[in-house]
Amino acid sequence: MPLQNKTAIVTGAAKGIGKGIAIALAKEGANVVVSDIDQKEAEKVAEEIRKIGPKALVIQCDVSKKEEVENLFRKTVEEFGKLDILVNNAGIYPFVSFADMKEEDWDKVMNINLKSVFLCSKKAAEVLPEGGRIVNISSVAAFVGFESLVHYCATKGAVNAMIRALALELAPKKITVNAVAPGAIETPGAKGPEEQMKQTIAMIPLAREGQPEDIANVVVFLASEKSDYITGQTIIVDGGWTLR
Ligand code: NAP
Repeated sequence: MPLQNKTAIVTGAAKGIGKGIAIALAKEGANVVVSDIDQKEAEKVAEEIRKIGPKALVIQCDVSKKEEVENLFRKTVEEFGKLDILVNNAGIYPFVSFADMKEEDWDKVMNINLKSVFLCSKKAAEVLPEGGRIVNISSVAAFVGFESLVHYCATKGAVNAMIRALALELAPKKITVNAVAPGAIETPGAKGPEEQMKQTIAMIPLAREGQPEDIANVVVFLASEKSDYITGQTIIVDGGWTLR
């Protein structure tokens, strides 16, 4: 198994894409720290992982809070003795028109989607060994505009730019930093009216919504040795949505 004996942290891992990533990493042999603000749902994911085989530890953490992030990394290293893979997945996408967007709306999305990547990557860079991995969950919203998501689009564009610079700084330690940019993925957070889903699917060349596993498969690749020579890149996984 390619990730046997590796230790991974996945943020926002209680649901949706993060849950899919946590389980996929475990299936490849990794011990997983299931981190989320929702401890109850995170415990369920940890149980699933233990049934697969590897160890799972739940650590509650709001990724926008420095002390909680520090606690996440301290406890991970205490429990597993090391960290090999960080997946910055936690993120929110609250729809609000630019006309109605308040400073608090802007700050909240910046803190949870962008400052979190700074806080977690900084702690990870202190402990990741040679060959370590940072994988970020970006979005197609970094490449195309979405109405009522001005703040969200800004954070995902920033993540893509940030990882190029971080990849350069961590290259001497042979740590790679990459991102996956999902299109429309079926998750609790993205659930909308059926009519809206049909309209979205009509725009996707591969004619379906993505599943968390579609993203998780690429994260597993970026976390494994098979991606050794790739760094600073964002891989779009959207069924061809942004091709036209
Ligand atoms: P989701 O279904 O809402 O799941 C996200 C999880 O993160 C939830 O358990 C949520 O808890 C948790 N969370 C929220 N704020 C947090 C915080 N401050 N600290 C730690 N955990 C937090 O979301 P998703 O659709 O899987 O999205 C995951 C990532 O993929 C995000 O970065 C998102 O931008 C990105 N993405 C998603 C899509 C899509 O179509 N789904 C497309 C492109 C990119 P609560 O539920 O309690 O808030």
